[in-house]
Amino acid sequence: MLKEKTYGILDSKAQEIIEMRRYLHQHPEPSFKESKTAEYIRKFYEGKDIEWIRYPVGLNGIAVKIKGGKKDSGNGKRKTLAIRGDFDALAIQEESDVPYKSVNPGAMHACGHDAHTAILLETADALIKVREELPGDIVIIHQYGEELSPGGAQSMIDGGVLDNVDAIIGGHVWASYEPGTIAVRSGMTMAGRAYFEAVITGRGGHGSQPYRCVDPIVAASHFVVAVQSIISRNLDPADPAVVTIGRFEGLGSFNIIPNSVTLQGDVRIFSDEINDLIEKRFREILAGITAAYGCSYDLVYNYDFPPVINDDKLAASARKFIEADSVPGLKLCQGELIMGSEDFSCFQQKIPGLYVFFGAKPEGEFYPHHHPKFNINESCLLNCAKFYTGFAVDFLEQP
Ligand code: MN
Repeated sequence: MLKEKTYGILDSKAQEIIEMRRYLHQHPEPSFKESKTAEYIRKFYEGKDIEWIRYPVGLNGIAVKIKGGKKDSGNGKRKTLAIRGDFDALAIQEESDVPYKSVNPGAMHACGHDAHTAILLETADALIKVREELPGDIVIIHQYGEELSPGGAQSMIDGGVLDNVDAIIGGHVWASYEPGTIAVRSGMTMAGRAYFEAVITGRGGHGSQPYRCVDPIVAASHFVVAVQSIISRNLDPADPAVVTIGRFEGLGSFNIIPNSVTLQGDVRIFSDEINDLIEKRFREILAGITAAYGCSYDLVYNYDFPPVINDDKLAASARKFIEADSVPGLKLCQGELIMGSEDFSCFQQKIPGLYVFFGAKPEGEFYPHHHPKFNINESCLLNCAKFYTGFAVDFLEQP
């Protein structure tokens, strides 16, 4: 069976996949500056006689097309599946003591995209080795710039990376799930994200004479309290959402009322409609409160990424695939709804997509994603690659 053949190839790479991940971990580059990593990826494909490699719109993204040698699965349409992994790191100073600790000051693979890249490269290698037997095509998408707005996904889509692609899969190593598990959700999977900055302007002056000022601190404080009611009073409790104000800056002094207050915050939602509702309420509350206190305001509200909504059919077939023990040693686990965001969602705006989570809980102490001591359990790497190759083969073979 073709699936097992790819597993055999991957088993022979058990050491190499760990070495690649550690090399990448040691040499992290933050989002949109990941050109050396892109070069490392490009070099991996040298001599593999690959149909095309390109950097869409001149940036760091790389896509590789693996042309299958078989006409189709025997019953009609020939399919193309994309498999996506991201490769950017974070602007964090690594604090762990691993021998493969980051050598780049202020940069760290603290989200596991080093693992994603090693997994995707070995996945591609195994599929290239069996390409003559593939009844369809595979597009491997190495995505840059996932961690920072506006993300790299949209530019790659605009560059044509999804042309003639029928469906896309991707996944994240997840440090709070047990190794040997995979979480596959239907529908709502990761939240979409909006960002806002509001500047509330009054008229500063002496703290002893507030009646001669327009105090933006008092107005902004009422605003902070009032927006809490959006989630609790405007949203259906069945619609999960978050509104957080993480910056409140009005640098006066004990006896100085400042001229203005700057507020920044974060909105997480699971549909465009809920985002629109929150933005509308936001503007109404801001306009009402500033009017009541005699202040003016400026508001920037940006809807960065839509939510990751998994395709029901792809999710069902992935669950069936795992339940049939298609990848030895890999079991389903209960995946929680994740309020974090991912620009994998941009691909899902175009074609059906499935985003899964690979259990990667390390031995010993556990640190969350984006922590300076973050690490993963490398035992998950091979299973992730096997999920990709096995699922891809099934996807192409099924009508
Ligand atoms: Mn990530």
